[in-house]
Amino acid sequence: MAKARNGAEPSFKDVARLLEKGSCVLCSLLKRFQSACIQNASADRVQHLCSFHTWALAGAANTDVAAGIFLHVLELREMRLDIGGVPRCSLCEQIAEEEAERSNDFVLLLKNAEFRAWLDRYGALCVPHASRLLKRVPTGDRAVLTSLVQNTAARLKGELRCCTGHPEDRRSASALSRAAEYLEGRRGLAIKDCQ
Ligand SMILES: [Zn+2]
Ligand SMILES: [Zn+2]
Repeated sequence: MAKARNGAEPSFKDVARLLEKGSCVLCSLLKRFQSACIQNASADRVQHLCSFHTWALAGAANTDVAAGIFLHVLELREMRLDIGGVPRCSLCEQIAEEEAERSNDFVLLLKNAEFRAWLDRYGALCVPHASRLLKRVPTGDRAVLTSLVQNTAARLKGELRCCTGHPEDRRSASALSRAAEYLEGRRGLAIKDCQ
């Protein structure tokens, strides 16, 4: 059974302001979290970096802060040259912890009528997150997730069929982005590294 963070029941009101209509619920929350992690990264919290987050820090963070982090990581990496192997990325670890907590919140919120109504109207889930959530939810709630994924897929298929023959239409580009998010998760979110 899922446990909410700090032992408190998650409130739909708190989560509602963070949700994006028509986008995967977990991808939306994790993308925000990842951006904050990159912006607020500090040398004392980062020991190692994956390729994705190394380049994300190089491109997005404050130069002083990024230089301090890279110095720290370089020194640690030098010490490990003779040992071999690269430890897990500190940012991937933070995102994986957040993903586990947000997934627990999601499972608990499925009991909330307001959240269920929001999901019916605006909700979506990408395939990677739907398959992970299906392993966590009680049997009785699996039908909600399955129909959410099926509805997302049906809507996308309709949008993609409309795109064919209208390559110049701006709606075609956004339909392709939504289909890519559905299949692989949100662009720029290192969810594959977080497993
Ligand atoms: Zn997702
Ligand atoms: Zn990483």
